[in-house]
Amino acid sequence: MARQQRIRHDSAIAVVGLGRFGAALAIELADHGAEVLGVDADEAIVQSLHGTLAHVVQGDSTDPALVEQLGLGDYARVVVAIGSDVTASILTTSQLLRAGVAEVWAKAISPQHAVILDQLGVHHVVSPEADMGRRVAHMVRGSSDDYLEVDSRYGAMLVTVPEQLAGVPLRELALQRQHGVTVVATRHGEDLQNANLETRLRAGGAMLVAGPTREVEAFAALAATMRARGA
Ligand code: ATP
Repeated sequence: MARQQRIRHDSAIAVVGLGRFGAALAIELADHGAEVLGVDADEAIVQSLHGTLAHVVQGDSTDPALVEQLGLGDYARVVVAIGSDVTASILTTSQLLRAGVAEVWAKAISPQHAVILDQLGVHHVVSPEADMGRRVAHMVRGSSDDYLEVDSRYGAMLVTVPEQLAGVPLRELALQRQHGVTVVATRHGEDLQNANLETRLRAGGAMLVAGPTREVEAFAALAATMRARGA
């Protein structure tokens, strides 16, 4: 049974559907200071997140009474993270839009699902499986553990610095001219720091390399080869 909870903070975010994707998203938001309301039909899931999220409620989000009772229309941001039950995703989303939520984010599990959500007027449609698949493809091509897509043809990759590039100022390495990429930050230990032309890379540290996807992948693969040769 859903319990009455009204939250009127603009900073509050509701996450509806606390499966693997929704729970990870809700926990990350909470860890970064957001007041998160999590909603799920499954009592065990709700119990497991008590104390982790500010508010957790068990209930069926397709029920208009629940949306009203929780005051979800007052939220500036709501994420619908229901995937495999497309009907529940669509019903929940359309109710939230009707209730006047300023920004609705919704997860799609297929291109068709994404089209329907878009046609409903969802402000942000995300396709985590498709996005992750694309991202991992770039990571595999660049032999890198991380790729950030800016758009389909531009991105950034975290690349381990090969010994051969260490100790020389970036100005002299001329990576932009030679490889079409820019080192925007370097990482030693935990912290990333902005790089400039005087920055010297450290062997074994990491560099965040940005540029057109093909160039970034090619450069990251070259760095991996250099590391293998240098090892
Ligand atoms: P994931 O990959 O994130 O685990 P999924 O794509 O398999 O998720 P679903 O199984 O459809 O997605 O749902 C994710 C969560 O949403 C589940 O925990 C489920 O209990 C919850 N959920 C599904 N329908 C509803 C609903 N009508 N109301 C509230 N929660 C719901």
